[in-house]
Amino acid sequence: YDDRDGLIWLDGKLVPFRDAKLHVLTHGLHYASAVFEGERAYGGEVFHLTEHSQRLIDSGKLLDFTIPYSVEEIDRATRETVAANKMADCYIRPIAWRGSEMMGVSAQQNKIHVAIAVWEWPSYFSPEAKMKGLRLQISDWRRPAPNTAPTKAKAVGLYMICTLSKHKAEREGYQDALMLDWRGQIAEATGANIFFAKDGKLHTPTPDCFLDGITRRAVIAMAKGRGIEVIERPMQPEEMAGFDECFLTGTAAEVTPVSEIGPYKFTPGKICQALLGEFDLATRAKKAA
Ligand code: PMP
Repeated sequence: YDDRDGLIWLDGKLVPFRDAKLHVLTHGLHYASAVFEGERAYGGEVFHLTEHSQRLIDSGKLLDFTIPYSVEEIDRATRETVAANKMADCYIRPIAWRGSEMMGVSAQQNKIHVAIAVWEWPSYFSPEAKMKGLRLQISDWRRPAPNTAPTKAKAVGLYMICTLSKHKAEREGYQDALMLDWRGQIAEATGANIFFAKDGKLHTPTPDCFLDGITRRAVIAMAKGRGIEVIERPMQPEEMAGFDECFLTGTAAEVTPVSEIGPYKFTPGKICQALLGEFDLATRAKKAA
């Protein structure tokens, strides 16, 4: 990913993509003192930009560091990076990390760096292809309890078990994995939130130990706007047997129906279709109009 044309915003200025490098003794690399975001621009406009910039700053605080820019400055830098790369539709990756001044667990004085990169990352599937649904494995790894890790942060360290889960799922012929939480309740996929539907209502786990995704919240609002009831509650894995539809939400995943999770089967239907359409209207279709 580093051998590309274009520009990356690094600590306040745009630098050539290939030159945005850091030292091997960077604290963020050794001790996971790093937080990041994932965003998308549609037609040159970043979907829910300020919520993402705010979450980046909040994630930094949860890792005991202060990002040296305000929400407005991060918003502006993000727009500047998208515009400088002349990409109307792209994925955006802001990241903040502790630098290399001191080595060791404690590195209170290390400089906090921020970078923003963008690249083309089209939606994997057309709405028609998405309706076939993904196959998910149930991971052996569990999301940690809120007193085990800062679970509200989009922190790099929390992705270690996501990569382990997704690699195993892919090796065994699945596209993603569902992770349970430390109590054994349904949590989320490795980079997306999860919803289930039956009797025209949506059910989704309460995000008390995993990311309350910005797409998740947008889709809840879209569903409510269509008069679909949304129930947030603790969900047990055995309950999956009783649902007709299932889908994932996330910046990269957007709205992606699921057809299988371990032994449980779902058929993407009316609710998936309606929310895929609604999401498309709020993003691609709106910008194309
Ligand atoms: N959970 C995890 C683990 C994620 O990585 C993501 C993607 N950022 C999400 C949920 C969905 O969050 P969002 O809708 O804000 O992209």
